[in-house]
Amino acid sequence: KSRTASRFSHLERSATIALLDEVQRLRAQGLKVLDLNGGEPDFATAEHIAAEAGTALHEGFTHYTPSRGLLSLREAISEKLRQDNGLHTHPATDIIVTPSAKHALYISLLAVLDPGDEVIVPTPGWVSYTSMAHLAGARPVPAVLSAANGFRITRELLESRVSERSKAIVVNTPNNPTGRVLSREEATAVAEFAIAHDLFIIADEIYEKIRYDGREHISPGALPGCAERTLTVNGFSKGYAMTGWRLGYVAGPAEVIGQLLKVQEHTVGCAGSFVQRGGVAALTGPQDFVQDMVDEYAARRELIVGGLNSLPGVVCAAPEGAFYAFADIRGTGIGSSAEFAAWALREAGVALTPGSAFGRGGEGHVRLSFATSRTVIDEAVGRLSSALAVRE
Ligand code: PLP
Repeated sequence: KSRTASRFSHLERSATIALLDEVQRLRAQGLKVLDLNGGEPDFATAEHIAAEAGTALHEGFTHYTPSRGLLSLREAISEKLRQDNGLHTHPATDIIVTPSAKHALYISLLAVLDPGDEVIVPTPGWVSYTSMAHLAGARPVPAVLSAANGFRITRELLESRVSERSKAIVVNTPNNPTGRVLSREEATAVAEFAIAHDLFIIADEIYEKIRYDGREHISPGALPGCAERTLTVNGFSKGYAMTGWRLGYVAGPAEVIGQLLKVQEHTVGCAGSFVQRGGVAALTGPQDFVQDMVDEYAARRELIVGGLNSLPGVVCAAPEGAFYAFADIRGTGIGSSAEFAAWALREAGVALTPGSAFGRGGEGHVRLSFATSRTVIDEAVGRLSSALAVRE
């Protein structure tokens, strides 16, 4: 018998986190590596949010909270979902606060998937959905989006991936890594598809706040016939620059949230008490600083997209949301996305993420995060440009 559980046999380490280790190793050797691999805002959490969590700590608010999360936070989330997303939820039954959106997604998949069930995962897509599905004993079924079609989701593609065992579909808007924001047409296609095949929709909306050019955010759960089949996942990491706080949530039908609650009760118990107080401050306090961060991302987006398109053989569409540039590097002749990433790290000291880390549809592309300063972006583009020039 094997020493460790076979359920882990399909799992690989997160490619982005593994690359982070490599960056740290190179930096320890004294190399100046520019990190465009990570998916973490470089902004500090706003002072009023930190202050509220600090107050909670000093007040001795350091005990377990209800497993669903503080009622005050669930009420704030419910109000936010009503205002921003057109979702109507009862704070008492339809919302669970989780330690991170990552955990929210994990327990959501665990709650709806039986071993052997299939979950349709559009790819390129975030690295963890597939691993989480495997952990649930389920089978992730990739729906490979076409770069030529701007990574758009179509009903036709989804229909080609459905089977008797299909139980759920994951959608992520705004999207990591493609930067796509689901259009109304695509969202409707997903909704109608899910209804036709009686599927759950797991909607990962973690980048909701980060959108450009006035793009509309559509929550699939708000579309006709979807409330009873959608688990809406969101959190505080990206929009509020609160990655280290580990705070997220799921909203959905009461009976499914009840199942998630059991998983949470028997695993982590609850999200951090004072962390949740910070979450209340984030949702109920001023919101203008969020737009300030988005404005800064927008300026960086111009810089990085312009810079990448000036490189020979590189083509990069402007992302509609999130903070990643997903550049087509096929024209450089350097090879696969993994080869390009290794080359960029070695020859330019630039850490970026190979598209292959996001599933089959990601090959031929690399992801560069612009949740980093304009100076770093400028220098990274400059270094890539010089390294490419030397090759010619
Ligand atoms: N979903 C997507 C698409 C992400 O990119 C990330 C973070 O990288 C998460 C979820 C997880 O967010 P959290 O920090 O709340 O776990």
